[in-house]
Amino acid sequence: MHFIDVIIPIPLQKLFTYSITAAEADFLKIGMRVAVPFGKSKIYTGIVYRIHENAPSAYEAKDIQQILDDSPVVNGFQLKLWNWISEYYMCTLGDVMRASLPSAFILESETVIAKNKVTTIDESILKDDEFLVYEALNHQSSLKIHNISNILDKKNVLPVIKRLIEKEAVTVEEEVYEKYKPKLVRYVKLDPHFTAEIELHKLLNDLSRAPKQRDVVMTLFSISAKTKKPVKVTDLANESGVSNAIIKSLIDKGVLKEYYIQTDRVEYSGEATEASKRLNAYQKSALIEIKASFEKHHVTLLHGVTSSGKTEVYVKLIEDIIQEGKQVLYLLPEIALTTQLVARLQNYFGEQVAVFHSKYSTHERVEVWNNVLHNSLKAKIILGARSSIFLPFDNLGLIIVDEEHEQSFKQFDPAPRYHARDTAVVLAHMHKAKTLLGSATPSLESYFNAQQNKYGLVEITKRYNDVLMPDIELVDIKDKLKKKRMKGHFSDRLIEEMQETLKEGYQIILFQNRRGFSPIVECNTCGHSPQCPNCDVSLTYHQYRNQLRCHYCGYNSAMKQNCEACGGQDLDNKGFGTEQIEEEVKLLFPEHKVARMDLDTTRGKYGYEKIITALEQQEIDVLVGTQMLTKGLDFRNVKLVGIMNADNMLNFPDFRAHERSFQLMQQVAGRAGRTEERGKVLIQTYNPYHNILQQVSTNNYVDMFKEQMNDRYNFKYPPVYKQIKITLKHKDYNRVETASIWYAKSLRQVFKDHILGPESPPVSRIRNQFHKNILVKIPKQQSLAKTKEAIIKINNSFLSVKDFRSVRVILNVDNF
Ligand code: ADP
Ligand code: ZN
Repeated sequence: MHFIDVIIPIPLQKLFTYSITAAEADFLKIGMRVAVPFGKSKIYTGIVYRIHENAPSAYEAKDIQQILDDSPVVNGFQLKLWNWISEYYMCTLGDVMRASLPSAFILESETVIAKNKVTTIDESILKDDEFLVYEALNHQSSLKIHNISNILDKKNVLPVIKRLIEKEAVTVEEEVYEKYKPKLVRYVKLDPHFTAEIELHKLLNDLSRAPKQRDVVMTLFSISAKTKKPVKVTDLANESGVSNAIIKSLIDKGVLKEYYIQTDRVEYSGEATEASKRLNAYQKSALIEIKASFEKHHVTLLHGVTSSGKTEVYVKLIEDIIQEGKQVLYLLPEIALTTQLVARLQNYFGEQVAVFHSKYSTHERVEVWNNVLHNSLKAKIILGARSSIFLPFDNLGLIIVDEEHEQSFKQFDPAPRYHARDTAVVLAHMHKAKTLLGSATPSLESYFNAQQNKYGLVEITKRYNDVLMPDIELVDIKDKLKKKRMKGHFSDRLIEEMQETLKEGYQIILFQNRRGFSPIVECNTCGHSPQCPNCDVSLTYHQYRNQLRCHYCGYNSAMKQNCEACGGQDLDNKGFGTEQIEEEVKLLFPEHKVARMDLDTTRGKYGYEKIITALEQQEIDVLVGTQMLTKGLDFRNVKLVGIMNADNMLNFPDFRAHERSFQLMQQVAGRAGRTEERGKVLIQTYNPYHNILQQVSTNNYVDMFKEQMNDRYNFKYPPVYKQIKITLKHKDYNRVETASIWYAKSLRQVFKDHILGPESPPVSRIRNQFHKNILVKIPKQQSLAKTKEAIIKINNSFLSVKDFRSVRVILNVDNF
């Protein structure tokens, strides 16, 4: 008798055992996929976790349906990591499996298959049964597994579908494949040879016999004097009124030089074109210190101010590791994964760089997966967002977590609720590799770990090129209001600086925090504001679509003409968001180009990239945006950054609000003046003496750290205490209340006053479910494993109470 324990991608507490034949036992290896029946009629793809000879005692093991692989798709390191994640983050292996594998790997009864619309295939490569399915998809846009069973008149159809996917004939549905091609904009400049005055005179003399060509050169001068920006070929042609042929002849003669800004490098397949940069003295010593630190510590934190050239230091470390034939994982927050950085790394490492993130199609992800699995030359350096920790590395030498303070490394929903930075440290350790955390504004956790000597610490305190840190000025808007020096949300100081900056031909970024400011509609007669029917929040007003929207569930309706409550017509939108700032800038500076970057303008695969490209190409003078602006972008021509209102960040009800505000403001400030010219930052606030603002303006991370740590000690918050958040959800308020009181009481019997709650969160109803939160605080000396055991025990008795069975419980370890 032979058996296998299988991980199935659903949240089951235990693994399921299936029986296999002796021949199958001989063939199967841990990490291969098998199709297994489950429940009455379901089929799942499972991963073989263990092969053994012990029949399960509680049930009779069913036979597997089919073996899907010839060799493992998941390796031993991964299974070890899955185990760690499921234990640490208190979720099932099934949850981890679903998060880890590209969806094309997890065929199951509910999978929907559609024809691959991107590539057309040569139908002759299809076997008969494959062709039948392919044909059927010509008549029907999609098919479910059971439809395919009917078409083929057999049960075991997953292998057929698997082959069709491999042949790129079909795809797993909901993967919309969209390719981004940034405009390739052609620019011209005078050949540097003619910048010397004598040469220029000579040129203009020579051209006196070709007046049209001379005109072109003169027009080029006048455009660049006026706009102080790179000159597009189209603009030059328009302004000088000559044909493209004349411009071309000047290019051919070598008088003008043409160039392009930003080309599409996502699909890069070329060679490395650049040698890595020579480090300056600060970078050099940082590199030496990091290497020395790795001798003693598994993890080292690189605290380098914005624009200190951390990326170039990473590049040197990466060079060493791939020299040794090992793999490198370079983790970034999703949103910072832009063509900017991809292009930069591909210039150095050519096609050894592979990019992995959730906006990629399943084909692209499967391809990267397989390249990593086979340790291919095409995937030596993986540049990816948080989910890339799940790739099948087998020879990892280094993990870099850039912008390690970023909240988006934490997955909140669904399980596994893991933190990619912390998981990366564990993953690296399994491979005996090192982890480098990098940030200009480290998280308190990481800096605390460095202080405790758990991590090494290396610092770069100077910007590359010795550019000064931006000059930060606090503007007291209370005072400005009193003196009537505000126009809308703009103080006279901000307007002055904006005028100056635009006059000099530089660009501006205006930052408005999205949270807590959302424009809410309020009736001036009765005070009513429209509410979301599913969630306990006011709807926000979106001018662009003239809509009211819920930011929690996506509910929307047309903007109301009259108040729903009293019928009054005098509706007012309170608060101000990016949209309103954008409108105001347009009124203040009508002759300049304004754009906005927030969740609404960056939908779609490359929405974000398009705006960044436009900013780089200087098609935008003023960019208004949210947090998205902060993510490690490198813009050369931005000189002024305005923070419209610092207070709504500082007042956000969260124990990390101050730390986050500091990080956000420092990071946005860091976008100013990254080359040559010193940048300027204006922070508008009602409270200029707030300690955080003082620390931001003096660039004093250490003071911020000390002060915040004091609070964390006093109020028992992380990183001093560990924290697990338990959320209960139910559509009936009374049920969830009784349940949460029961739960908290049971926890208190074990953990005494280290339990907070139950409490209703600020938004207590989301998608028609009422929420209650309970917080478990865990002192350092208390065993985390024992704490979790106790919670699981309580959770199990909770679930055995009949009335509570329908209450959903969510466990969130390190919920911040
Ligand atoms: P950080 O990641 O610390 O914010 P970056 O690595 O983006 O900083 O560097 C800031 C800018 O300085 C980039 O445009 C980069 O190309 C440039 N730079 C950094 N180090 C060097 C170097 N050693 N030689 C030339 N340019 C450099
Ligand atoms: Zn809602």
